[in-house]
Amino acid sequence: MKYVFGPVPSRRLGQSLGIDTIPLKTCNWNCVYCQLGRTMPLTTERREYVPAEEILREVDSVLRSSQSRDIDWITFVGSGEPTLHSRIGELIRSVKNMTSLPVAVITNGALLYLSGVREELSAADAILPTLDAGTGELYRKINRPHSQVTFERLVDGLIAFRKEYMGKIWVEVMLVRELNDTPAALEEIAKVLQHVQPDAVHVNLRNRGCNHQTTKA
Ligand code: SF4
Repeated sequence: MKYVFGPVPSRRLGQSLGIDTIPLKTCNWNCVYCQLGRTMPLTTERREYVPAEEILREVDSVLRSSQSRDIDWITFVGSGEPTLHSRIGELIRSVKNMTSLPVAVITNGALLYLSGVREELSAADAILPTLDAGTGELYRKINRPHSQVTFERLVDGLIAFRKEYMGKIWVEVMLVRELNDTPAALEEIAKVLQHVQPDAVHVNLRNRGCNHQTTKA
């Protein structure tokens, strides 16, 4: 299998069958804690990085096998930012047509300011975006984004998605020592979360060098 892995145990999703739609470290962020090293390329280009049909063939094959009995969630996650795949919406809908298992997307949320991306993700049962900072300054220090995916766009996208989306939004906050673990930084994050109104917030403490996204074995 090239694009499907697991099921692997996930803190938030039980036994998760992962679908990786993006080549290694293709992302619009370059987080200080990313365990995959420096983002290359740092891009906001949305395209079909991996043929959707090949991904779906692999998913279908796993779901037909005995492995499928152990799966709690099917999760778009992996080596880069999944929403950069231009057919992510179609992929989610096709997987939903194959199975009654719930489908989640682990994303940094940076492209949710685009109405098309919000519409594409709306077919999933849960979206797990990231919010590590409550100010633009800390956002740039921690997530080191592409210049097009600004803090204002990140927050606006999360708020707009909450208004439109009927599924669960579980926000992950990755605390990085000496960057966003101070009372002031936490207060700023909490203020943003009050506007976003997620269904749950998961807070993790990481030393630099860890990655919040990759559960690939
Ligand atoms: S941690 Fe995730 S969002 Fe951050 S650079 Fe790595 S792959 Fe991208």
